[in-house]
Amino acid sequence: MTLKTTADKGIQTLSIHGGENPDSATGASAPGLEMSSTFMVDEEISFSANNLTAETPFVYTRWDNPTTRQLEQKLAILEQAEACVAFASGMAASAAVMLAHLSQGDHLVISNTNYPGTAEFARETLTRLGVEVTPVDTTQPAKIESAMRDNTRMLWLETPSNPLLRIADIATAAGIAHARDALLAVDSTFASPIATRPLNLGADLVIHSLTKYIGGHGDAMGGSVCGSQALLGPLRGEALVHYGGVISPFNAWLIMRGMATLPLRMRCHEANAHTVASFLEAHDKVEKVLYPGLESHPQHALARAQMDNFSGMISFRTANPKAIAQRMMQELEVIHYAVSLGHHRSLVYLMQTVDLIGSSYRLEGDELDKYRDEAGEGIFRLSIGLEDPEDLIRDLEAVLA
Ligand SMILES: *Cc1c(COP(=O)(O)O)cnc(C)c1O
Repeated sequence: MTLKTTADKGIQTLSIHGGENPDSATGASAPGLEMSSTFMVDEEISFSANNLTAETPFVYTRWDNPTTRQLEQKLAILEQAEACVAFASGMAASAAVMLAHLSQGDHLVISNTNYPGTAEFARETLTRLGVEVTPVDTTQPAKIESAMRDNTRMLWLETPSNPLLRIADIATAAGIAHARDALLAVDSTFASPIATRPLNLGADLVIHSLTKYIGGHGDAMGGSVCGSQALLGPLRGEALVHYGGVISPFNAWLIMRGMATLPLRMRCHEANAHTVASFLEAHDKVEKVLYPGLESHPQHALARAQMDNFSGMISFRTANPKAIAQRMMQELEVIHYAVSLGHHRSLVYLMQTVDLIGSSYRLEGDELDKYRDEAGEGIFRLSIGLEDPEDLIRDLEAVLA
């Protein structure tokens, strides 16, 4: 039995039952884990990815797999999208979107601070292939507008963005992109579909690192792209089948299992983050706290309008960040000093300004001043988990003392 309709169901029901097809042969209630790389076929099927359609039976797992398909259906339901394609990682998904929808001579406008892998891919790989790239501060619609050109084919936003939790106005950006016939792609990893549904605000493609909130347990990498069938067809045929960054069915199964509790986890991430952000804001060793749910966030009003949940990501600044980072590595009891985010375990990491500016962002002039003004020498990126907030506060109190 699958859901007869998703239209009248709530988000908790959809996170659990959406997209799942219990096995009609065995009656198993949980989705099956189908690791088979190949499938026995009883009709002639073209060996070309160009002839792949939604009706093509399962042939080979790099093209499509029954477990992965259930994950894709669940993601499409939560993002209120027509379709979804899953990838091996968030970077495989991001690279697929840019490579499949941009060609030599096209122009990309992209946020000037975002996930470092995305920034480096755009600036290094795309420009090598003849795509023009203009990084801009996408919190400023006027700056997006003035970066657009006749050959701009894509506008890429990350909101909230890594690592400063800047918010971009998706609906306004969609208007700017569409006036130029450009696609709007939104990396919504920090928000999750519980906080924001970019397609409803006018975006054309939504990218997630499933490794983060959606999987939620720090034990499986994956990525996804949601959007219309027309835009995702080339992603499956070209990017998935030919670039080959396919997700393991086992990871798809783990991520689907994690998704069942996504609405509950996001509620707890948000509540815990609010408690810890308020503690940090009141602490005399903390110079600055950035959390979209705090009144002090420079774009709190936009966050309130665009996000149903402020998520669990906090950035904060202290004096002597390297010394504090050393103490964190040695002394934290509950919080792990490690990269990544969105897991049930709390994670913290120092994002050093010289490192990001030198390798990933290459900001100059006013943009560099603005970044330095917010981040100082470095900013601690704190991903609040599902532990008791009192334990997280005690951990932070010890290393800040
Ligand atoms: C982690 C992350 C990515 C990359 O995802 P992987 O699954 O690590 O490849 C992309 N965008 C954002 C915002 C991320 O946090």
